[in-house]
Amino acid sequence: MGAVRAAYICTACGIQFPPSEDPPAGCPICADYRQFVPGGRQRWTTLEELCRDHRNAFQQLEPGLLGIATTPEFAIGQRALLVRTPAGNVLWDCISLIDEATVEIVRALGGLVAIAISHPHYYTTIIEWSRAFGAPVLVHEGDREWVVREDGAVTFWNGDAHDVLPGVRLVHCGGHFSGSAILHWEQGAGGRGVLLTGDTIQVVADSHTVSFMRSYPNMIPLPEAEVTRMARIASGLKFDRIYGAFWDRDVTSDARRRVQESADRYVAWLNGRGTDAPVS
Ligand SMILES: [Zn+2]
Ligand SMILES: [Zn+2]
Repeated sequence: MGAVRAAYICTACGIQFPPSEDPPAGCPICADYRQFVPGGRQRWTTLEELCRDHRNAFQQLEPGLLGIATTPEFAIGQRALLVRTPAGNVLWDCISLIDEATVEIVRALGGLVAIAISHPHYYTTIIEWSRAFGAPVLVHEGDREWVVREDGAVTFWNGDAHDVLPGVRLVHCGGHFSGSAILHWEQGAGGRGVLLTGDTIQVVADSHTVSFMRSYPNMIPLPEAEVTRMARIASGLKFDRIYGAFWDRDVTSDARRRVQESADRYVAWLNGRGTDAPVS
């Protein structure tokens, strides 16, 4: 009789590995210099175990946009965002926990046409979500090496942008990871436009400015040229609001200007020209 195989999940970043008898030797996402292994010890769980004492909570953020996050918080603690359009729904970023209630609720809302991921920290259980809804997972080619559970459902896109649905477009930014992307939702914020930014353009604690880092937990900055390049990409998009990776990390208005001013502030401090003037 063979040993029981399980698809192990890293408890630090929430990523799920292909089924195996023993847990993986380590998690490459957490061993990477941008992340960390808490206490230096790798720990594992499974989806089955996670479902025993965790649930997903849903919040409507604005018409056509729902946040989904696990409670109590698990791993990095991000939320997924469900964008609803007349052509179907897109899940932006992902969370490890997918249970029967989540599947029923998302199906009742029309299911998913696609799952689009900003970068490897939010890969989590993309294959489980993909199978539950029959939706492809869109990952930028630049991050191919980080997909630990290879599957035909993962569709790599490349280049500067990729149209997911009418009015819903993935935009490549880089910076945090080579393939880091954001999602532009044209009809969001009452037609003024919305960006979903994950960690690529990070909404910070004050909820009206943003930052751009190579590593957030390990506080490694990006060079001026990268920050300027990313701000230029954002300035080419029409948007008024940003929803970040976590609950309450939202720039609710005037977000396009605030991204530019945040980038200017960042570059000024990199060059010893920073001032105490706040971003208005
Ligand atoms: Zn990990
Ligand atoms: Zn990240």
